[in-house]
Amino acid sequence: MKLEELYSLFLTCKGITTDSRHCPQGSMFVALKGETFNGNAFAAQALAQGCRYAVVDEPEYAGEHCILVDNCLTTLQRLATYHRRQLKTPILGITGTNGKTTTKELVSAVLSCKYNTLFTQGNLNNHIGVPLTLLRLTPQHEMAVVEMGANHPGEIKTLVHIAEPDYGLITNVGKAHLLGFGSFEGVIRTKGELYDYLRGKSGSTIFIQNENPYLNNIASQLHCIRYGQTPGLFVSGKTTGCSPYLSFCWTSESISHEVQTHLIGSYNLDNALAAVAIGRYFGVPDTDICKAIASYLPQNNRSELKETASNRLIIDAYNANPTSMHAALENFRQMQVPHRMVILGDMKELGKSSIEEHQKVITYLKTCPFERIVLVGPEFAAIPSGYEHYQDVYQLIETLKQEKPEGYTILIKGSNSMKLSQIPDYL
Ligand code: ATP
Ligand code: MG
Repeated sequence: MKLEELYSLFLTCKGITTDSRHCPQGSMFVALKGETFNGNAFAAQALAQGCRYAVVDEPEYAGEHCILVDNCLTTLQRLATYHRRQLKTPILGITGTNGKTTTKELVSAVLSCKYNTLFTQGNLNNHIGVPLTLLRLTPQHEMAVVEMGANHPGEIKTLVHIAEPDYGLITNVGKAHLLGFGSFEGVIRTKGELYDYLRGKSGSTIFIQNENPYLNNIASQLHCIRYGQTPGLFVSGKTTGCSPYLSFCWTSESISHEVQTHLIGSYNLDNALAAVAIGRYFGVPDTDICKAIASYLPQNNRSELKETASNRLIIDAYNANPTSMHAALENFRQMQVPHRMVILGDMKELGKSSIEEHQKVITYLKTCPFERIVLVGPEFAAIPSGYEHYQDVYQLIETLKQEKPEGYTILIKGSNSMKLSQIPDYL
């Protein structure tokens, strides 16, 4: 079936789904394939559960209401681009090594004060999540904020050609997924694919962290709106106070405001300043910008503060890479609180740089005045550090069950697969 025809059928549907366990009445089911599943086999079930149409790419599953296409994944992506072109909603694409989701949430909270804003749900930032986000666009939406993630070269290029953004923000570039990218230069090149696309698009604008040399190097010939800590930028800001929660002051065109956030970590300053800059650029009133950022509550173990009966926890167990690990440790080191303890899990997907990067963390820890240092995982085990070490989270939990720490402020950080998010229950 031609794309235009499929699109007219899509318009008669109530949304799109790729998950046969979640088939809203009247929606369109698209049968994707994974390593262990074939969505085609669930097409009939999806129709039985209420989907109006199913899109399949294996002839034996085609039939009434089961539409055959060459390839379901590329059809989903092309449908998303087609839909995006029809609606012409201004789109801001956000990528970067760290802080994409936080920035996306802050920016969306700010823009929503003035515009009906569609934004990526949770972390749906890949070749499937991006089209699904775009296909949620309706004519009522006035802006869209789309998170784009990558762990291989070329991935951002694919995503920008699906979403065709008008505005771009690279939060930062850092060392993550080195296994997939090959090198730090590979990371920069891949994130830069967003800039490359925008460079070729007339009327495009990027929002750029002014002090980042890597971003500045690749931002030539782009219309740049700058934010950062240098005075005199479109939006300049600095942290104020030293409570665990970020508070900051921002200035733009000689107007200043102070904001108290619910975000842990001074590294969130850049994320918040990006939201201020984008809000101001699009004419959101200053007081609304401040209110939106002040009331945003982080979720999913991304820098959450939790008080238990025995300890105060900073839980940052959702992901870890050398850049975010360093940012979290540096922030913790600057916090003027007694009895500090860290529980750090391995940073995954670092390929041949893994030992070197874990060694750097150990070297850094040697300079930190923390009372207790606990390391978890085989990557840390490979380096003789003299620190308390556990092979996995379960081994650590056994120890915590027998002897619970009391009266500490504890930073918990590691890659998601280290499962450190289970630890707070034992602290
Ligand atoms: P993912 O790649 O998993 O989608 P992300 O880029 O969306 O991650 P967030 O989920 O916003 O990032 O934040 C994840 C973690 O990254 C935070 O808990 C924090 O440790 C770190 N982080 C967030 N912002 C920054 C920043 N500006 N600089 C360095 N580290 C940051
Ligand atoms: Mg994310």
